[in-house]
Amino acid sequence: MTKKDIRAILFDMDGVLFDSMKNHAEAWVRAMKENNLTMTHEDVYMNEGRTGGGTIDLFAQVQWGRNATDEEKEYIYKVKSDIFNTLPHVEPVNGAWEVLKAVKQMGLQRVIVTGSGQKSLLERLEKNFPGIFSADLMVTAFDVKHGKPHPEPYLMGLEKAGLTAGQAMVVENAPLGVQSAKGAGIYTIAVNTGPLADEVLYNAGADIVFPNHAALLKALPGLIR
Ligand code: CA
Repeated sequence: MTKKDIRAILFDMDGVLFDSMKNHAEAWVRAMKENNLTMTHEDVYMNEGRTGGGTIDLFAQVQWGRNATDEEKEYIYKVKSDIFNTLPHVEPVNGAWEVLKAVKQMGLQRVIVTGSGQKSLLERLEKNFPGIFSADLMVTAFDVKHGKPHPEPYLMGLEKAGLTAGQAMVVENAPLGVQSAKGAGIYTIAVNTGPLADEVLYNAGADIVFPNHAALLKALPGLIR
């Protein structure tokens, strides 16, 4: 077997680092309902990682028989964001901090690849995970034309880190995120922090699925060698 040359771990954010998916699910379900679109909590988890506009279009196509207009998309996404901001404070996912510290200690770069477009992103990362991430190694909703499941976000993550697909690994929690990472040709670890079955993540292409960060932490040294 040839020795691996892993230099970086690319981390998704929502559901991997922050326990924010419950709030996103609640906000989406309520915002869509207020705008005459039906979206279940499971729908939110199945579509996690898609851009806001892409998600709204998908449901409008099926239920309205047309794409949403830009104004409709902007309005529904604003309602969703407003509801999200009223929900309880989001905490880091259990064990994420320990994984991040271990990854740094192993001398690997840490890259963020998120579909989120919150302006306070780096501030929030720095507050919860000090010294782990830097602004030049982040791909956000502002950087990409195509959201997940398109490979563009993870390809851009590799580009920002100056690495090839074989020099990185991804940590994801969602099927579309896994598809995006695998589309970029990167070994993909899924941590199943949500309600979907492991099978959904394997079917999306995950190379390995862990039930939580503690299990990932234990396996990590073996995975990067
Ligand atoms: Ca995620």
